[in-house]
Amino acid sequence: MSIGEFELIDRYFRRPAADPGVVLGVGDDAALLAPTPGHELVLAVDMMVEGRHFLPGADAEGLGHKVLAVNLSDMAAMGARPRWALLAGALPDSDEAWLAAFSRGLFALADAHGVALVGGDTTRGPRNLCVTIAGEVPAGTAIRRSGALPGDDVWVSGSIGDAMLALAALQGRTAMSPAALAPLRARLERPQPRVALGIALRGVAGAMLDVSDGLTGDLGHILEASGVGASVDLARIPCASELRMRLATGERGLALSCLLAGGDDYELCFAARAAMRERVEAAGSAAGVPVTRIGSIAPREAGLTVLDEQGRALAVLPRAFDHFA
Ligand code: ADP
Ligand code: MG
Repeated sequence: MSIGEFELIDRYFRRPAADPGVVLGVGDDAALLAPTPGHELVLAVDMMVEGRHFLPGADAEGLGHKVLAVNLSDMAAMGARPRWALLAGALPDSDEAWLAAFSRGLFALADAHGVALVGGDTTRGPRNLCVTIAGEVPAGTAIRRSGALPGDDVWVSGSIGDAMLALAALQGRTAMSPAALAPLRARLERPQPRVALGIALRGVAGAMLDVSDGLTGDLGHILEASGVGASVDLARIPCASELRMRLATGERGLALSCLLAGGDDYELCFAARAAMRERVEAAGSAAGVPVTRIGSIAPREAGLTVLDEQGRALAVLPRAFDHFA
């Protein structure tokens, strides 16, 4: 059974919004939103293309989760509270089983974060899903990439490299038991954006971003924006035991690329003054997300150094992901 465009929107994407800030949601030519006085709007958009970000046949509920999760992660990275989302979708057909599962995944995560879907656009075409997210921060409190200073600590949340290790296992590039793969695969398919941590780090972190394209490449963006260098200790980067184990074996190359250049982590990487250590720990505890100090910010001339387990600089850093490289 196939349904029309407006029926599709009504059935799968139109829900009453609990948020009083939604003056008018899905159904008119545009949404009307009432931002909180004294706040700045924070906007981001992220697109997921079939064949590029996910494979044909990928689980629809997982896609609904992930396309919103990657956008919430951008809000987290600014220290913003996400509030409103727009969904633009190109779909090859109006398969109701697919739509129901996609919408379930999307709304479950939206509800968990108090985000209202306030509009979108729906068209037929090769599958392409795009969420625009709007959030808020009290004016002047957003955490940019440009505030890192020499002497700051470098921190990351959660664990790094899980998603890329899962992908490597799914592609047969490393062998792993189903039991070991399951939690890593959940990190690849259902990333949990660190929204509460991002908010708790306002006034604590000097510079921040979310790690989506690999730790060293993304940390490089903070260094560039802040005009600084950094040194990171490989042994301190938090990771799954499946990854730690591979660092000491013939699979060290794979393990290094997962840790330093893996994508899809959706963790936060941030710089904070050494005097802020207790406040960073407190923010992590309050948000229920582990935070780990992995290195320090250096003067610009130092560039980015990753020290191995013996304290020697790695000669070559694995390359970060780049769609056009
Ligand atoms: P317009 O022709 O004015 O662009 P549309 O016919 O595209 O309007 O959309 C009708 C309404 O449905 C609008 O309020 C739009 O924001 C909303 N909408 C369309 N597609 C989606 C979607 N995938 N998710 C949520 N809202 C949607
Ligand atoms: Mg439209």
